[in-house]
Amino acid sequence: MMRQPALKHTSRRAASQLEQPFYHAQRTMAVIPGMYQLLIRLHRPARIRVGALGRVRFQAGWYVYTGSARNGLEQRISRHLRKGKQKYWHIDYLLAVADGVEAFVLPGSDQSECELHRSLWGGTVPVPGFGSSDCGCRSHLVYFKHRPRIGLLPWEEFVRRPTRSVAWRARCAPARRA
Ligand SMILES: [Zn+2]
Repeated sequence: MMRQPALKHTSRRAASQLEQPFYHAQRTMAVIPGMYQLLIRLHRPARIRVGALGRVRFQAGWYVYTGSARNGLEQRISRHLRKGKQKYWHIDYLLAVADGVEAFVLPGSDQSECELHRSLWGGTVPVPGFGSSDCGCRSHLVYFKHRPRIGLLPWEEFVRRPTRSVAWRARCAPARRA
């Protein structure tokens, strides 16, 4: 006979690994793919190793990392926000020393993360090659001295109403460069 409780056990364990309090009240979300941006704060400069890029110096300030989650925003953002995980992507190294991180999402998959990255303006490229090993971009990380405005849907709102967020997306799509 099939044992049904296995699924319940898995989701309870997954929820317990997450630190965001709002998450505990949330039932399993539908898998919604999309793009996202992480707004990362560093209070002080940091010199850290970033995988194959070697040692990198990060100035104090704000960083925006752009990525895509074709297998679901929930799974990817939850991983980014989890502490103490194995470092795999470049961004994992920066997040490990970050003083703060906020996630923003763009549900849907009709735009590439490279376009979304290029729609950011006013920042500089702090680390060539960061997060862009698989595409032609110079980097998927942008540095800002002051907090930039992110035009996407805050992660907390997405978690609260994941299915409604697809409709919300039309309002939050960033302006594209002419
Ligand atoms: Zn790219």
